[in-house]
Amino acid sequence: QSIEISELIVSVVERMRKEAEDKGIDIKILGSDDIVLNADSARLEQVLVNLVDNAIRYTPPEGHIQLRLRKSGAFAEVTVSDTGVGIPKNDLPHIWERMYRVEKSRSRERGGTGLGLAIVKQIVEAHGGTVDAQSEENRGTTITVRIPISN
Ligand code: ATP
Ligand code: MG
Repeated sequence: QSIEISELIVSVVERMRKEAEDKGIDIKILGSDDIVLNADSARLEQVLVNLVDNAIRYTPPEGHIQLRLRKSGAFAEVTVSDTGVGIPKNDLPHIWERMYRVEKSRSRERGGTGLGLAIVKQIVEAHGGTVDAQSEENRGTTITVRIPISN
């Protein structure tokens, strides 16, 4: 399928905006390059939903979430950044594992099963792409997903 990735981002954000705003979190999209991907739109949508869901869930009220799309060489690069609780350095390499949740008690009260990011990684890698996380505790998290551009 040919997918206009910027349109997919807009539709996911519009669908999840209310949930964010109900929590007092603002969510915006920056830099939407026109990029067409050869990808499975339902699965890419799941990637975006899981990342935005995390950003909302792990960001306290008054926080901010930004999605950015840009072309980076042969890849479409999507970043989802939040001003949330962040991820401790020691946990960061493990967040892509199935069922891994940081600081179990704190995460548990926020629901979830620890599968979201494992699914993200699996889908992105199935498209020939890569995932990456940067985070600082109590400052926020940026998840970067890169997917090869069809040509
Ligand atoms: P699920 O997504 O299955 O509902 P989950 O959100 O706990 O559950 P993942 O999405 O796989 O699972 O994330 C794994 C863990 O990584 C989370 O439990 C949380 O501790 C941490 N995490 C993920 N995204 C963020 C984020 N944006 N900010 C802070 N911590 C995060
Ligand atoms: Mg999740």
